[in-house]
Amino acid sequence: MGFIKILEAIKKCPQKAKIRGWIKRMREHKGKIFFLLRDETSELQCVADSEKTNKELWQMCLNATIESSVELSGTLRRDERAPHGVELSIEDFKIIGLAEKFPIQKDFSTEFLLDVRHLWLRSAKMRDALKVRDTVFRAFREFMRKELNAYETQGAMFVSGMVEGGSTLFEVPYFGKKIYLTQSSQFYLEAVMYSLGNVYTIAPSFRAEKSKTTRHLTEFWHAEGEFPWIGLKELLDIEENMIKYMVRAVLEQNEIELKALGREPKTLEPSAYKKYDRMRYEEVLKIVQKRFPYLKGATDFGEKEEREITKERKVPLLVTHYPKELKPFYHRLDPEDNKHVLCCDVLAPEGYGEIIGSGERIWELKEMLERMKEEGLSPEQYGWYVDLRRYGSVPHAGFGLGLDRFTAWVTKAQHIRDVVPFPRTLNRYYP
Ligand code: ATP
Ligand code: MG
Repeated sequence: MGFIKILEAIKKCPQKAKIRGWIKRMREHKGKIFFLLRDETSELQCVADSEKTNKELWQMCLNATIESSVELSGTLRRDERAPHGVELSIEDFKIIGLAEKFPIQKDFSTEFLLDVRHLWLRSAKMRDALKVRDTVFRAFREFMRKELNAYETQGAMFVSGMVEGGSTLFEVPYFGKKIYLTQSSQFYLEAVMYSLGNVYTIAPSFRAEKSKTTRHLTEFWHAEGEFPWIGLKELLDIEENMIKYMVRAVLEQNEIELKALGREPKTLEPSAYKKYDRMRYEEVLKIVQKRFPYLKGATDFGEKEEREITKERKVPLLVTHYPKELKPFYHRLDPEDNKHVLCCDVLAPEGYGEIIGSGERIWELKEMLERMKEEGLSPEQYGWYVDLRRYGSVPHAGFGLGLDRFTAWVTKAQHIRDVVPFPRTLNRYYP
């Protein structure tokens, strides 16, 4: 008889079973020891009875500690009082890795739990969040492959200076030279697109964000896509369908985890099935100004404004046509007025705010050179990126979706780091 996972054991009750896992809790009571054993699938109460076990086995049980790894076997029975209504009476018990006194016992501060993240990952809260995160990553890949026939590809993480918003670049020494960590794989995807057509990537992006918000990391996982021959209209449909697909996957595969994390699945259903709202920047600005009258003209929405815009919403909001001053040079101008760009930010509901930044890219060389001049950028510095406009350029559009932010939204997390195994923020790069 081989080992089975705890969830399977619970389903197979009543029967004999061999299981292994870690001791989450243990207590001695009236000549019995109650262990709560956990593995990645579930938890099971296992009991050793001093009257029914031999001395050696009993001693072994007494020696066990919280978070020791163990192998055990016994008989499964129904018991109303046990979690999941099943209990295993221990007939054999072996400690594999005896744990020292586990540093996390009860009620510790957020900072302490971040210090011992390598151990806190074992908590039910982290396990549940990481399971949802897994679904999010997988669903994104599935959508790209199945719905768009897109190829997965990779950019480079070490980059030369040519990116937007230099102030948030991390510098790295590179054999006596100064280079940077990438903020986005977009430029590289645009290059590979001319070889593979629809392309996407999942890669880390690095931003030296000094802002301490609940939605910024210095290293985050960026899902990006770039698609030839499409415009803003088609891009918006891709984004809406993609988010719906991903939310549906989470609803189908993670009902238990969502509930445990405090996210009522019903509240996500509109985002899985209902039509999303679409508005132009100026319409949204008017709404925001009612609450923040000091906002004038072309101002970007920060965390506070986006919270205000989205807190009462049930489905994502697609905000299009930002003034060109608010967006990087590569966004294509709206030919209707030459003042706005054909872009879209997707704001998640319930106060979560931006999860996607996207838009049509300038594809004609002339327009690109003019926009760069206007922005005071030198085409030489952006050498190969500009070059792409010289050889059979085509209209195209793409997006960047923050997978950590997406996961924080669907799990209703208080803070983005709650859904990241090893979060990196302004003051934290350990463990
Ligand atoms: P914000 O205004 O919130 O800083 P941004 O406009 O800088 O976002 P983009 O450059 O458009 O964001 O990046 C695309 C997506 O990547 C964002 O919509 C978001 O989901 C994610 N993202 C950007 N910066 C971060 C960060 N520091 N931490 C986590 N996710 C991020
Ligand atoms: Mg930013």
